[in-house]
Amino acid sequence: MQVLNDKVALITGASKGIGAVTAQEMAKMGAKVIVNYNGSQQAAEKIVADIESAGGQAIAIQADVSNERDVERMFDDAIATFGKVDVLVNNAGTMLTKAIRNVSTVEFDKILNTNVKGVFNTLRQAATRLADNGSVINLSSTVTRTMFPGYGPYCATKGAVEQLTRIFAKEVGYRGINVNAVSPGPTETDLFLEGKSQQDIERLIASNAYGRLGKPEDIAQVIVFLSSDAARWISGQIIGANGAMA
Ligand code: NDP
Repeated sequence: MQVLNDKVALITGASKGIGAVTAQEMAKMGAKVIVNYNGSQQAAEKIVADIESAGGQAIAIQADVSNERDVERMFDDAIATFGKVDVLVNNAGTMLTKAIRNVSTVEFDKILNTNVKGVFNTLRQAATRLADNGSVINLSSTVTRTMFPGYGPYCATKGAVEQLTRIFAKEVGYRGINVNAVSPGPTETDLFLEGKSQQDIERLIASNAYGRLGKPEDIAQVIVFLSSDAARWISGQIIGANGAMA
């Protein structure tokens, strides 16, 4: 008996990085998995194939989380395929590192649309369509604690995600649904590595107590725990997964 047996998990942005490893870990723990992606169809299909060849069940569904209709269709397709959704992992996200004075309106709108409206769109579906006694795990970031310069819009989106987490927990608790956020520190993925010099990376490695970058597996294990029945009484919390960085 695995801890996620009989559960169906929908993971947004699961074509790569933390989302892809979370999908694989959840499938290993017995969940049926929906691998959401936006543009990376081949990568998403590879994750599905890997899960299936390891004996699990998964489907890939394209949806831009910032698009209300796409998100509604994704829930329709997930429920039509597996009968229900028990676990929602709001992982899809983009990043931007620029001083506020250099951020264009287009860039600001884009990050708000994906990181905040995307979470809002899925929570609104989950409010009525997630199964009773389910779980929601939203991805925040340790920058809401470190507040590094250059992370203004990104940090603002994750601050919004944390507040949506706390309030949604109170709105759906009556159905037995727990809602938490995980705040990773620097984690070795495309999103983290893009545009960073070796010097930037070394500085961030030195900023936690373990002296290394996080791995997607470090974060995925916490998400698995928060979606298991053992975490039922944990709700409305922001859990740092960052090697004592902050
Ligand atoms: P990656 O860039 O490696 O992966 C991002 C994923 O999000 C991709 O699968 C991408 O899919 C998907 N995605 C992006 N935009 C959309 C959209 N509009 N609709 C649907 N899917 C979308 O990121 P990480 O794995 O590093 O990050 C995952 C989460 O963790 C993010 O929310 C991020 O903010 C958070 N985080 C990451 C940290 C890190 O250091 N890596 C630190 C703290 C938090 P596709 O390619 O198909 O478009």
